[in-house]
Amino acid sequence: MKTTPFWWEEAEPEHSERSFDNDSCGALIVGAGYTGLSAAITMAEAGISNVFVVDAMRIGEGASSRNGGQIGNAPKFDLAYASRKFGEKRAREIMDDYEQAMPFLLQRAATLTDPFDLNLTGSVVGLHSRRDMRKLQQIRDSLPAEKRADFELLDEADMRRVLNTGIYRGALVKHDQGGLHPAKYVRALANRARALGVRIFTGWRYMGADRDGGGHLVRLADASGQTAVIRADKVLLGANGYAGPELPWLRQRIIPMQSYMIATEPLPFARLEELIPLNRMAGDTKHILYYYRRSPDGTRMLFGGRARFRDSTEEESAQGLQRFMLHTFPSLKGVDITHSWLGNVCFAFDFVTHLGRMEDGVYYSSCCNGNGIAMATFMGHRAAEMVMGVPGHDRGVVNTHFPRLWFYNGSPWFLPMVGNWYRFLDRSARWFD
Ligand SMILES: Cc1cc2nc3c(=O)[nH]c(=O)nc-3n(C[C@H](O)[C@H](O)[C@H](O)COP(=O)(O)OP(=O)(O)OC[C@H]3O[C@@H](n4cnc5c(N)ncnc54)[C@H](O)[C@@H]3O)c2cc1C
Repeated sequence: MKTTPFWWEEAEPEHSERSFDNDSCGALIVGAGYTGLSAAITMAEAGISNVFVVDAMRIGEGASSRNGGQIGNAPKFDLAYASRKFGEKRAREIMDDYEQAMPFLLQRAATLTDPFDLNLTGSVVGLHSRRDMRKLQQIRDSLPAEKRADFELLDEADMRRVLNTGIYRGALVKHDQGGLHPAKYVRALANRARALGVRIFTGWRYMGADRDGGGHLVRLADASGQTAVIRADKVLLGANGYAGPELPWLRQRIIPMQSYMIATEPLPFARLEELIPLNRMAGDTKHILYYYRRSPDGTRMLFGGRARFRDSTEEESAQGLQRFMLHTFPSLKGVDITHSWLGNVCFAFDFVTHLGRMEDGVYYSSCCNGNGIAMATFMGHRAAEMVMGVPGHDRGVVNTHFPRLWFYNGSPWFLPMVGNWYRFLDRSARWFD
């Protein structure tokens, strides 16, 4: 079993430029994932010259080349929750940001020349309890008529035509969603950015920035201890779940968490078509959710989730995920696991994505809250608008209060307790169903 992402078989992250022949730039973006690269594309398209993207690892080596490739934009909260926190006007704009993420991704995708296995056959959400069914029925009833067709609810028996498992009470089919090859997608974004003149530097860690007139002197270091200082007019952090101790302000506000995936050996196409027809993306409504799909060619099962709520190795997580997979699809007993991998997602204490500016003038876009292909692509764009001061940028998630807990320093010691609580909630949802 390999402990690298299945996606890297076809699109392993690559290094880019190493040496700086120019020690100043218009904008320096930290992070060559969807957020940073999307921001760079928007800036370059707007005519900002000399945009630098700097990453401590290879291009896209963070979550952007490791995720499940399921494109969705559902926030982890509703309008009532957001209204209580931010007031109704801002809350509506925040919901609108989430709503716009998927159309924006498709718009951006249309400008990319490299293929990345985009598939828009829809997604299926398995409903853990009858209560979930009732909640979703209410949501469906509140949708405008033209949106209801894309939001189909199926009972337990009908569900089998879209997801052939016996573990759910029914399913929601979202016909307007789909999936992609995450590592090919991040590579396509990088190539588009480069074609627009963006320079990408890898193997350099951002260590901080000092004010320099209207700009910043950015301190960088590589793994061998070599250092560099670059003058940048603007600085944007797109570090998400890989923000380290060098970014203390962000670390106090984010909960980085590992998420895990496995891939099976190739199987006959028809065998998996029977389990997940049409190669739709799949997930469920549990607190400790499973998310799964077939490989783009339809021959492997790719299964993900949070097998544990403490850091684990790829070998440990593979055992848990295989158990979850067999619980969902018992017919996969005896099938070999060929890949097991993990990556960091990033949560905010209020489950909202946050964009803003720190006291030192450095901008940030942070917290995909586990669901960031569409959202990070769009937030990169919104962050670029914020950095460029585009009129009207201060709406939705931009400049919302980014909460922190006074006793928290970036190390989420409480996650095992949260895991136990979620396990209890998932079990009790079935006891009282
Ligand atoms: C296993 C897994 C499954 C997932 N499944 C899905 C899914 O199916 N659908 C979905 O929508 N989302 C999913 N996600 C979430 C999604 O992958 C992320 O939301 C998205 O990739 C975030 O992109 P990003 O550019 O913000 O962050 P990342 O891709 O994580 O990039 C951050 C980059 O910042 C760099 N960095 C950090 N600190 C520094 C520094 N100081 N100096 C230089 N560089 C630095 C890192 O090296 C990294 O490359 C999943 C995530 C994981 C891990």
